[in-house]
Amino acid sequence: MSALGVFSIGDGPRRVGVKVGKEVAEAGMVSTLLEGGSLSQLLEAGPDAWGEVLANVDRALPDLPRVPMTEVTMHLPCPIGDYVDFYSSLYHATRVGRIFRPEGDPLPSSWRHLPIGYHGRAGTIVVDGTPVKRPHGQRGPGDYGPSQRLDFELEIGFLTGTGPGLGEPIPVTDAERYIFGLVLVNDWSARDIQAFEYQPLGPFLGKSFATTISPWVVPLADLEVQRIEPPVQEPTPLPHLTPAGRGLDIALEVLVNDTVVTRSNTSFLYWTMAQQLAHATSNGATIRAGDLFASGTISGPTDDSLGCMLEMGGSYLEDGDEVVLRSELLGSCAGVIS
Ligand code: MN
Repeated sequence: MSALGVFSIGDGPRRVGVKVGKEVAEAGMVSTLLEGGSLSQLLEAGPDAWGEVLANVDRALPDLPRVPMTEVTMHLPCPIGDYVDFYSSLYHATRVGRIFRPEGDPLPSSWRHLPIGYHGRAGTIVVDGTPVKRPHGQRGPGDYGPSQRLDFELEIGFLTGTGPGLGEPIPVTDAERYIFGLVLVNDWSARDIQAFEYQPLGPFLGKSFATTISPWVVPLADLEVQRIEPPVQEPTPLPHLTPAGRGLDIALEVLVNDTVVTRSNTSFLYWTMAQQLAHATSNGATIRAGDLFASGTISGPTDDSLGCMLEMGGSYLEDGDEVVLRSELLGSCAGVIS
């Protein structure tokens, strides 16, 4: 496992490192693609280079200089290009549908036909540990003020390499070749602002104020053991979204002020990453190196596997609360509300 990230020490320059337990190994000297204090060059180089560089990192690892994790500051792994957030947990979409639209079918009519998503705000994606300011917004007609219903969303996301040209969709069977690695994603959500604004164009200011990601990017190639069959999809999606490809079995949890409030798993996702990427480019839209595609809130079937407070039906986040998304495989992603 060679999770890659970007760190600095004191006022020093940003450098690419590999996570080794509670230490960071400096990886910049392994390849010119890891110089420059960002994963951008590596992401641009594509899957053949990824395999070669990761193998070289593994080989060189015993000899690389290391620093304790406590001495480094972590940064975003690269400038994030375009950011998309999906809505791919059937359990989450069903519960949220019941809350927002108590009458009729809780699932939007297109939900089982394509992975619904929206384009988010890349410029407000921040790294683990960045404080999150409670957003202000319109909570209803004539009612502007600080959000009273500030929530987290437990998600994962993948960072991509460079896609084919404009007008060239990525085939679903080829899609994983464009996925470098995974991070945890907390899609902070102001439910009162979101509820007032979301029709008909979807989330806007209710989510764009901040999105936190974990600092260590775990290469998809290192997650072979976690790959599983996708859920049964009924009706069968159209040919450009089949075969579905493989799912992931990664355990996740959320802590609020050091107390575990939920345990979930990426196996609860209905749509696979390959389908998400194939769908997102099926109209000919391009992807660039460093684009981030997030899963949507990962909720399971039971009351102890809910991926956000909206579904829990109780209180929301208070000033001073710390939310930590945690996964043995993907690391952690924290933020304190102020
Ligand atoms: Mn979300």
